[in-house]
Amino acid sequence: MTVQQRIEQLRAVLRQHNYNYYVLDNSTISDYEFDLKLKELEKLEQENPQFFDPNSPTQRVGGAITKNFETVQHKNRMYSLDNSYSENDLYDWQKRIQKILGTENITYVCELKYDGASINLTYKNGQFEKAVTRGDGFQGDDVSANIKTIRSIPLVVSSNFVQNFEIRGEIILPIQGFVKMNKEREASGEDPYRNPRNTASGSLKLQDSAEVAKRPLDCLLYQVVTDEQNYKTHFESLEMARKAGFKVPETIVLAKSIKAVLAFINFWSTKRHDLPYETDGVVIKVNDIHQQEELGYTAKSPRWAIAYKYKAEQVSTILNEITYQVGRTGAITPVANLEPVQLAGTIVKRASLHNADQIKKLDVRVNDTVFVEKGGEIIPKIMGVDFSKRPTNSTVTTYINRCPECNTILVRKEGDAKHYCPNEFGCPPQITGKIKHFISRKAMNIDGIGSETIDLLYKEGLIKNYADLYLLTVNQIIPLERMAEKSAQNIISGIEKSKEIPFEKVLFALGIRFVGETVAKKLARHFKNIDNLMAADFETLIAVDEIGDTIAESIIDFFNTPLNKDIINRLKSYGVQFEIAVEDIKNQTDKLLEKIIVVSGVFSKMSRNELKKIIEDNGGKVSSSISKKTSYVVAGDNMGPSKLEKAQNLGVPIISEDDFLNLIK
Ligand code: AMP
Ligand code: ZN
Repeated sequence: MTVQQRIEQLRAVLRQHNYNYYVLDNSTISDYEFDLKLKELEKLEQENPQFFDPNSPTQRVGGAITKNFETVQHKNRMYSLDNSYSENDLYDWQKRIQKILGTENITYVCELKYDGASINLTYKNGQFEKAVTRGDGFQGDDVSANIKTIRSIPLVVSSNFVQNFEIRGEIILPIQGFVKMNKEREASGEDPYRNPRNTASGSLKLQDSAEVAKRPLDCLLYQVVTDEQNYKTHFESLEMARKAGFKVPETIVLAKSIKAVLAFINFWSTKRHDLPYETDGVVIKVNDIHQQEELGYTAKSPRWAIAYKYKAEQVSTILNEITYQVGRTGAITPVANLEPVQLAGTIVKRASLHNADQIKKLDVRVNDTVFVEKGGEIIPKIMGVDFSKRPTNSTVTTYINRCPECNTILVRKEGDAKHYCPNEFGCPPQITGKIKHFISRKAMNIDGIGSETIDLLYKEGLIKNYADLYLLTVNQIIPLERMAEKSAQNIISGIEKSKEIPFEKVLFALGIRFVGETVAKKLARHFKNIDNLMAADFETLIAVDEIGDTIAESIIDFFNTPLNKDIINRLKSYGVQFEIAVEDIKNQTDKLLEKIIVVSGVFSKMSRNELKKIIEDNGGKVSSSISKKTSYVVAGDNMGPSKLEKAQNLGVPIISEDDFLNLIK
């Protein structure tokens, strides 16, 4: 086989596996084999640049930076959809189109209305060419570099499909991925994203495609546009697109009457909450392409399609009080305390009002009757006020100007959506919030202490910052509420044990704004110890991969604060880890990033602990039990029979010690 043939072969195999995994949700190859093949391909492509292909599976990881997205004219306009809200609206629509077509014989396609950002993908000779946002319908932005990182979008389509075409779909962020992203943001002191849709559409405009590659975006397709038409119906075109490699949801159906359409609408009105992504309605389309052409378009939308919008589940209730929460970073969040009300299956008592602007925009006041909606089906939000029910004596809400916890005057910096309490070291929820973050599982992982214990220790004046934890004694803790000798002992030994926690986690635990787990790891690996990091100036910081201006400024700010310096010196003197362990420095890579590995049996070249360490040094995670999520099991001699069986049943690949070593070579 020539090099070129091998390259082609690897690309085809990897494409197939991307398809199986991301479109069919059914992986047929282990991550291990996939990675080996991808590595082989990367190497061959590097050595043989004459065979470069922009649509190679190696081009999915991102890295291209787009400063300005180019405006591109759509070859075929991207229309809006007319909306309908009731049975009657749909029957009216049917009447209109029956009249134009002069027949009652119309078949419909029912699709869900996926809630994300629309995208138009163009393919030339079966190859991905570009991806353009809807924009104003006539022209949009070329976001190709970002879209290419979405693994479920094929970059090459199978040869039995049309080869020159556009295909339209919705870029979505599945709910689970959205929730996970927000947890990570909050852990690093960033504001959470509002909802999956905005986050998906915001992702398309990120300048760094490597950043987009990290987000679990997906693309659901709903329309093929081509001159090489070899199908007669819309449904057929979607089925062909699905076979060609696109993710066309299996939820689409044919309906021979509006009655059947209504059955589909009814079915999904509640069932849609079980889907992994958000939907806000149904789209009904005329199936026959000839009929579609006859019907044509109005100034804004096709006559052959109509959207049915589900009513967002909304209730009204009374707002009793607006309270203000102070976060670990000092950010103030106004909260509406509501008369409890049933909404979409849960009882809602509180809803976020986000910030001062939101309160002003809605003009919400205490004692108002407000409309509450489950926005994005995740967090309830206040949509507006029922002004007809406003009490005559109501007064405009004035936003607080002092911190509700420490009475300090609040500040709002330019560009910030929220007000902040600047009293970082004197404001109780900020003080305890920092300590709670410090002890949390992903940080210092201190057993035996929970959130309430921190509140208690603080209230009793025993701790004012996280360094104080290390001075606590058993005798100080025993007299406290709900404490006994045993629990006090546990707390102290938990604190003692945290001195072994590696530097990268300590760095995360310090709670520097914008320094999340990943950034902390990067910084730890790059600077090796806290002194180097503290000495780094802005230029040095931003030269580090993935460290931008905001993070750099925040780090400098943190270390310029005398109290922080003092706390770090104290932590050092107590024996907390402030440098990377010597043996950690060599051999660290990202080769096993996101891999979850189970180790079982006895090994000949290293101990189990050494093996586990190698996994972690290379960015992998060690897990003790096998599940569907396990990437592989590294098996030594005498692997436990139950583990073996479980791995085999779940199809988790079992690799030997040598396979493993090859993987990280
Ligand atoms: P609207 O923005 O309300 O005019 O609705 C039109 C938009 O709905 C389109 O631009 C698509 O982005 C989106 N959409 C979501 N699902 C579908 C679907 N199944 N068929 C057509 N459009 C859809
Ligand atoms: Zn305060």
